[in-house]
Amino acid sequence: MPTRARRRRQIPAERKVFYYFGMVSMVVGLLVFGSTFVSSAMHFGDFTNFDDRGSSLMGRAIVGMALMFVGGVLRSIGARGLAGSGVVLDPERARGELEPYSRMAGGMVKDALDEADIDLGARPEKVVMVKCRACGKLNEEDSKFCQECGQAI
Ligand SMILES: [Zn+2]
Repeated sequence: MPTRARRRRQIPAERKVFYYFGMVSMVVGLLVFGSTFVSSAMHFGDFTNFDDRGSSLMGRAIVGMALMFVGGVLRSIGARGLAGSGVVLDPERARGELEPYSRMAGGMVKDALDEADIDLGARPEKVVMVKCRACGKLNEEDSKFCQECGQAI
């Protein structure tokens, strides 16, 4: 059973559907839009039914552009969530929905730093040692008993 926090970190299935549906819609829009150029090229110099065909081409171009636009919007909603893409103004929710991306960006920055061997100084923890009162051996701060003599610290 995934915990709640775990589930929040993943992009919900319905948003993936949005995303892919948007992508398909964009591709279909592009094809419809592009086909207007193909058919106008095919009928180039053919002036029969010019007006009819002209308006149907216009209609297809507009439908194609609309599909691409809607597809783009759907895709960004799917990718970033309603709040994350700014459709719903809810910064708190947006942060949760954008979390996979923030984490990705953070991870990439961390990878880049690792790659460049840059250390932000967070890693080398300062180890505080505690001296055993019985034998004087230095033990780590959180140890309960002395490593050397077993005396309670
Ligand atoms: Zn000791």
